[in-house]
Amino acid sequence: MKTLPMFLGGEWVQAVEGGTRAILNPANNEPIAQVAEASVADAEIAIRHARKAFDSGPWPKMRAQERAAHLSRLADLIDANADALATLETRNNGKPLREAKFDVGDAANCFRYYAGLVTKPLGQTFETPDANMQTMVVREPIGVCGQIIPWNYPLLMAAWKLAPGLAAGNCCILKPAEATPLTAMRLFEWIAEAGFPPGSAQLLTGAGATAGQALADSPLVDKIAFTGGTATGRKIIAAASGNIKKVTLELGGKSPCIIFADADLDVALEFAMFAIFAGQGEVCSAGSRLILDRKLAANFLPQLAAASRKIVVGDGLLPDTEMGPLITRAHMERVLSYIEIGKAEGAQLLCGGNRLSDPPHAEGNFVAPTIFAETRPDMRIVREEIFGPVQCVQLFDTEDEAVNLANDTDYGLAGGVFTRDGAKGLRVLKRLRAGITWLNSYHPTFNEAPWGGYKQSGWGRELGTWGLDEYLETKQINISLAPQRPDWFRSAANARVV
Ligand code: NAD
Ligand code: MN
Repeated sequence: MKTLPMFLGGEWVQAVEGGTRAILNPANNEPIAQVAEASVADAEIAIRHARKAFDSGPWPKMRAQERAAHLSRLADLIDANADALATLETRNNGKPLREAKFDVGDAANCFRYYAGLVTKPLGQTFETPDANMQTMVVREPIGVCGQIIPWNYPLLMAAWKLAPGLAAGNCCILKPAEATPLTAMRLFEWIAEAGFPPGSAQLLTGAGATAGQALADSPLVDKIAFTGGTATGRKIIAAASGNIKKVTLELGGKSPCIIFADADLDVALEFAMFAIFAGQGEVCSAGSRLILDRKLAANFLPQLAAASRKIVVGDGLLPDTEMGPLITRAHMERVLSYIEIGKAEGAQLLCGGNRLSDPPHAEGNFVAPTIFAETRPDMRIVREEIFGPVQCVQLFDTEDEAVNLANDTDYGLAGGVFTRDGAKGLRVLKRLRAGITWLNSYHPTFNEAPWGGYKQSGWGRELGTWGLDEYLETKQINISLAPQRPDWFRSAANARVV
């Protein structure tokens, strides 16, 4: 198998130390590609290219219209290759093809959205107390940005990082997750084709602990944008303190899906499933805690368990598949170990709880849709992010109790509320300490809207105008229109410069 290269300084290159990594299909753990594996040395090369591109290259100085044209070309190339790209995403990540197709469309739209946004007015002018002083505020790129992304939405996370970062005029180094570099590699073929200047956009494939850490450590990197686990987020914060890098973090959650007895229960039932089983539960905003009105428990839970048991789990490329495999063997083992922890803690399994190891599933990383009832708020399965198809049910009697359970978490990314009482729904959503919320829905979100969390779910926001803001510095420019001595030092009054 030939080793797929990285894209550094406008060239396709192998790792300087010759490292490679096998990429597996999580549906059967067969190798589907081999890619260059960066070491710290490659990260340093990427950083030098980016530094040069930012400090003396054309990209940050280019007119916004022209940068936007590059992003639009990229969006068109993604759309033109959408089917092949979705298939590749499913083979690499495992998610069902219909989800991968959705991600591809969303990724193209993200580039298009920022192509549009960056050509809109960004600055400000205002009057000052001094009539002869004009002040204006301009926005400028931050500089060299390291962008470290996870394996759950490989292409979409690349778009969420690159689109605003490049639109703003930064020079970006994207580091995909170890397991899922393949769709990002295709994206960079089109970045090359779309004519981005060398060093403005680079692809560094390699391990987090080496290549990723090197980006976070480097005094030559101005910003890190990171999506991934909380433990890694802490390392990024620590590393960033060296040169006080700008940092944005999206660290996942343990999000509540609250269902009141007065909800449209058929709608609520499918959303309860969608909240946790879409994307195999490997979704930062997953509704991994079902906070259910106790009055519903007897009827709702058996129906929920029965429907969840019937979810078709399999290879994402098969047309009937509704839920795919987990990303790696190791991650599957981690999810299964949480299921064992839940059993040992005394929670009651309503459905699932096992790996699927019958013939079509035997070689892949498949875990059955799993729901635990009879949980307590102090259980590890209720508190820790499992990042798999495992939902915990928590029962409440009153509205206050529902809110308190929902907010009893270190995280604060997302949350949904189901009720036919609109006033109650909005009241509860406003009390949720979370950044992304839904009434009578779960999961839909848009390139226009801010994505990010309260509490330990992260720092800053991606997408929308907020996402561009995170990639821009803010400069005030004060212009004296009628220069006059400040009349401050008596000794200067008689000084004459000839
Ligand atoms: P991770 O945080 O280790 O990986 C995310 C990215 O960070 C990858 O690109 C990885 O290479 C990189 N990375 C790892 N260590 C790094 C370091 N020291 N410096 C710089 N970059 C580094 O996530 P994981 O190990 O794949 O998964 C662990 C848990 O994280 C999951 O079980 C889940 O709970 C959570 N997670 C959350 C999200 C999310 O969308 N918020 C995504 C993936 C994983
Ligand atoms: Mn890790």
